[in-house]
Amino acid sequence: MARLRVEGLHVKVGGREVLRGVNLEVGEGEVVYLLGPNGAGKSTLIYTVVGWEGYVVERGGILFDSRRIEGLPPEERAKLGVAAGFQTPPELEGVRVGVLLRMLVERFWGVSSLEALKLVSNFISMVGLPSSVLEREYNVGFSGGERKKLEMVKVLAMRPKIALLDEPDSGVDVDSLRGIGEAIRYLREELGTGVLVVTHLARLCRFVKPDRAYVMLGGRIVKSGGPELVKMIEEKGYSAVRG
Ligand code: ADP
Ligand code: MG
Repeated sequence: MARLRVEGLHVKVGGREVLRGVNLEVGEGEVVYLLGPNGAGKSTLIYTVVGWEGYVVERGGILFDSRRIEGLPPEERAKLGVAAGFQTPPELEGVRVGVLLRMLVERFWGVSSLEALKLVSNFISMVGLPSSVLEREYNVGFSGGERKKLEMVKVLAMRPKIALLDEPDSGVDVDSLRGIGEAIRYLREELGTGVLVVTHLARLCRFVKPDRAYVMLGGRIVKSGGPELVKMIEEKGYSAVRG
């Protein structure tokens, strides 16, 4: 059974139809890549699945463990276990990294404050951030790579059943990529999370091999396949699937 199933999803944003019949699924403990050129609708899909305002489902549905969730508010979806790592996470002035992460872990892992602190430290070192970030303001003055790593820690802190990661590898150097890969592996192997990873780069494959891959073009999935699809796109570009 698919943990997440998107069925014939049509979504309008700003009055424009951006998703035009998306079908895809992610199973428990599966890592699935979502590839596609700029403007294909990949981020739109993620915002819609987590339930952001302004992403209007016109037709089709989003099923989580066979339950339709497209009508639920974002908090309810997060409670069920749907979490996203965003492409450009915001700066939160005045909010300390350690405080926010500990709150998330306490809530989503259901552990004591002390246990939460330990988990946060583990996650921070897993992605390769120094423990000194715990004292800093959330994302304020962080480099692009640091933001991506912190966003991965945020996702781990939410102990999701489905994680949707929007370009977690963009603008990230090769050492940092290893940390991002570690976090994805932990999600899959330790938590059994189904992970949908939006990426432009096959280099993440070196660290986490996908079980499957989809290609999105013009608001539709035009091709699905195994890891070899990622390699083919890297070599031939999207013209190979444009039909
Ligand atoms: P991707 O993540 O694949 O690069 P996006 O999902 O960000 O693509 O965008 C898909 C398309 O939807 C783009 O053409 C984009 O301009 C359009 N779009 C996204 N957000 C809005 C919006 N708020 N209003 C109008 N069009 C939008
Ligand atoms: Mg995008």
